[in-house]
Amino acid sequence: MRLAESFVSINGEGPRAGELALFLRFVGCNLSCSYCDTRWANEPGCEYEDKSIEELIDLVASSGIKNVTLTGGEPMLQQELPALARGLLRLHGIRIEIETNGAVSLCEMAGIRAKAEPYEDMPGQPDEAGLSDDGSSRMDGTGLSDEVPGQPGEAGLSDDEKTVTRKHENKSGNKPKNKSGNKPVNAVRLSFTMDYKLPSSGCESAMLTDNFRYLRQEDTVKFVSGSREDLERAADIISQHNLTERCHVYISPVYGSIDPQDIVGFMAERKMNDVRLQLQLHKLIWDPCKRGV
Ligand code: SF4
Repeated sequence: MRLAESFVSINGEGPRAGELALFLRFVGCNLSCSYCDTRWANEPGCEYEDKSIEELIDLVASSGIKNVTLTGGEPMLQQELPALARGLLRLHGIRIEIETNGAVSLCEMAGIRAKAEPYEDMPGQPDEAGLSDDGSSRMDGTGLSDEVPGQPGEAGLSDDEKTVTRKHENKSGNKPKNKSGNKPVNAVRLSFTMDYKLPSSGCESAMLTDNFRYLRQEDTVKFVSGSREDLERAADIISQHNLTERCHVYISPVYGSIDPQDIVGFMAERKMNDVRLQLQLHKLIWDPCKRGV
């Protein structure tokens, strides 16, 4: 996989903003937003390290960091991302956040998530990471069962993926359990933070609104807004698709283009309950142009 950089910092945004995270940034993007602050990672000549899934899982497992953010560029363009996600989901206690631009289908990854999670309220619990005793997996009642392609649990892993994930499972010596017994912990193991690109990005026509149906309460839709027109459009999309009923909804300013006070004023004017203003923490803490933070 084409890794542009990896580093430990805090999550700058999203429900886990302020928590430590290991960032894996992959090269390449299918959009070209006017305000892109990682353009360097999208250039054809961008230097990258060619990392195997095993190497990346080792990197995560040895980091001591629970939150892993897969970002870019557009990480969903990496063909091996589903295999990496399946491997990471088998590591105890790891939470994966995929930052995606809204222009790539979430269908396959949503299927992987649905089959990898514990089923706390269902009889006949799988004993690890969504796997039943026979290695098959089950859907989670999100209504996706007929819509997502089947991705078996370990049966969907290559021999290399099985070896590396078992290695780390064995290292910890136990399967995921909660305090009360045998059930797995970490109901939220994989979440999406999906952008909806607004008019000032120049990329709105690439948005796949069909992706909204794969989102759940742990996911986020982020509207990066640089103008009043952007805010108006964000309000329309949130309302049309009932997004606040579905997931977290954030509005974030295009750095230097709009005063956050104006966003707050707009939210108050429109009575945008359940929508949050979010400022990118790393741009407040470090130089806004600094990389690797
Ligand atoms: S989607 Fe993200 S990485 Fe791609 S051009 Fe837009 S801002 Fe940059």
